[in-house]
Amino acid sequence: MPKETKIVIVGAGASGIAAASRLLKRGVSDFVILEANDRIGGRINTTNFGEYVVDLGAEWVHGESGNVVFELASKHDLLSSDTGLLDPIKYEFATINGEIMPVEESRAAVSIHRNILDKIKPEDLKDVTGSYGDYLIRK
Ligand SMILES: Cc1cc2nc3c(=O)[nH]c(=O)nc-3n(C[C@H](O)[C@H](O)[C@H](O)COP(=O)(O)OP(=O)(O)OC[C@H]3O[C@@H](n4cnc5c(N)ncnc54)[C@H](O)[C@@H]3O)c2cc1C
Repeated sequence: MPKETKIVIVGAGASGIAAASRLLKRGVSDFVILEANDRIGGRINTTNFGEYVVDLGAEWVHGESGNVVFELASKHDLLSSDTGLLDPIKYEFATINGEIMPVEESRAAVSIHRNILDKIKPEDLKDVTGSYGDYLIRK
């Protein structure tokens, strides 16, 4: 339905939904969200796969403090913590090209990842911009 409004949010991904939720929290409900796709979520795309659900896009919430996704999801009990997911014995790892990595290589990758995480101090992250993935690649 056509609607007159002063506030238009473009995109119903996490950013658009977060913007809408902030507006609602401040008592502003006179806005529209325009979404080009036939579903909300943007690059977060949870879908059914047989009797399971899989995330074709984002699935990890990196960090709690100041993280709008954490704020939105945690209060609805939608998050779990499972560091066991990085176990190369339990799971197969694949490269970005879809090739299954040999277990030894997966172990080495996990070890590099853990070493980087162990060395990060909170003050190192103060001025970091970009994604978690970009940060790890730089390190
Ligand atoms: C495979 C994959 C895995 C990822 N894994 C993680 C992860 O584990 N953890 C993590 O933190 N991040 C992850 N990310 C990144 C994360 O998904 C994005 O940073 C985040 O979802 C971006 O949200 P957004 O709302 O800014 O943008 P988007 O999710 O891209 O949403 C933008 C929305 O705007 C709509 N749109 C665009 N232009 C228009 C227009 N002109 N008119 C109307 N609608 C429009 C689009 O259709 C889309 O729905 C991953 C991304 C991918 C692709």
